[in-house]
Amino acid sequence: MQRPGKVIPLELDDRYSRQILFKQIGAEGQQKLSETRVAIVGCGATGSSLASLLARSGVGSLRILDRDYVEPSNLQRQTLFDEADARESVPKAIAAARQIQRFNSQITVEPHVADLTPSNADTLLTGVDLILDGTDNFETRYLINDYAVKNSIAWIYAAAVGSYGITMNILPGETACLACIFPDPPHGMVETCETSGILYSAVNLVSSIAATEAMKFLVGAPANMRRTLLSWDVWNTDRGEVGAATPRAGCRACGERDFVHLAGEGRPHITLCGRNSVQIHERQRPVDFVEVTARLRPLGSVRHNEFVLKFWRDPYEMTLFPDGRAIIKGTTDTAIARSLYARYIGS
Ligand SMILES: [Zn+2]
Repeated sequence: MQRPGKVIPLELDDRYSRQILFKQIGAEGQQKLSETRVAIVGCGATGSSLASLLARSGVGSLRILDRDYVEPSNLQRQTLFDEADARESVPKAIAAARQIQRFNSQITVEPHVADLTPSNADTLLTGVDLILDGTDNFETRYLINDYAVKNSIAWIYAAAVGSYGITMNILPGETACLACIFPDPPHGMVETCETSGILYSAVNLVSSIAATEAMKFLVGAPANMRRTLLSWDVWNTDRGEVGAATPRAGCRACGERDFVHLAGEGRPHITLCGRNSVQIHERQRPVDFVEVTARLRPLGSVRHNEFVLKFWRDPYEMTLFPDGRAIIKGTTDTAIARSLYARYIGS
């Protein structure tokens, strides 16, 4: 047991010994893992599981992107967060990085509290070997697909809703891409965690499969990666597979190289995944939390920490980030959200 004020050094050389014994990885694969850089876009349920699996297995550098903050309803399945994070509304990227460094201080974790958009994709995704999908929406997935296909970076699609999980490996120039399989957002997947709920076990299954595929890629065994779109329902024990080994002729993204999602100009408002809330990120400018807190105090309840400022004025709850981005809860009407932002934060 550790006494207060005294840190007992751990012998960590052994950390990966059980994984090295697995011969498809071995010492050589472990060394390769330690030299790789992976971006995880979105750190909710799937992103948390993916980050945890890859951090523990020794991926050298993890870049974690997430636009959101921790809430109590996340704790059922988002394994990197705890009650203190929810109480303090800590941004998920920050909370994830802190937790990972507690169990693996030997890897690099780079948190980015940001929404992936066409204008910042180059900055946030540059220099990585692999991109993993922890998002909750097809808009961002198409953006990742465009970026990855354009720049020949492998990525892994993964999603879970209800008791159902689905995943696919995208190796640009070789396999089908997301737009080959889904030229338009698939019908069945417009359900959200809010409408259909979600089982943590479905998240875990799809994350485990995707993380294993990631490891195959990172240790230099991409030939062993699955070439199908795989879906699995853990409750009804249904399993489906669709071939995805080759690109579809005439695909907008990988065939015609028409990267419409990457070219798309800023998306000023986004309604978040079933949360009765609207995100505003049209104004990228630093916000002084102390000044805003003083100004809002007479108008409602307000508090801030170094990462977020929260302002409550019935029936709305506004969460403001240091770069000026805001999530306004209590409406799905973008016009109302825009006017609240203009009134309380500035136009
Ligand atoms: Zn394609």
